[in-house]
Amino acid sequence: MVHNGIVVGEGWNRLIGQHDATAHAEMMALRQAGKVLQNYRLLDAVLYVTLEPCPMCASAMVHSRIGKVVYGAPDLKTGAAGSVMNLLSYEGVNHHVQYQGGVMETECREQLQAFFRRRRSEKKAEKEARRAAQSSDSSQEN
Ligand SMILES: [Zn+2]
Repeated sequence: MVHNGIVVGEGWNRLIGQHDATAHAEMMALRQAGKVLQNYRLLDAVLYVTLEPCPMCASAMVHSRIGKVVYGAPDLKTGAAGSVMNLLSYEGVNHHVQYQGGVMETECREQLQAFFRRRRSEKKAEKEARRAAQSSDSSQEN
């Protein structure tokens, strides 16, 4: 999150670590920026994010009155900046957030894919370790 050329907030997904379904990267950046600027209204701030925001984050951006969001990859499942729905400039809402998608889209998509690939292999390794521990437990019982 950039305000007047200065980074005032950053974030990454913390859902699991914080046991918080709202701990998306964008929400974390909005919270930090509000604390730094001592204002929930983040007028003229620009948020840069790898993936198109979801409905919750898009709505929070409207509530925060940020000026613009720039994202890399579109989210064709839950994107709320035009892919599935557009909550950033919803008719009848008093603040519209400008947005620009597809910025460094390939790099952002590769970063996201690498993250999920790593997560899948970590989960697979955990599952195999658990299975190995269980089978050594049961072999000791016999
Ligand atoms: Zn989100």
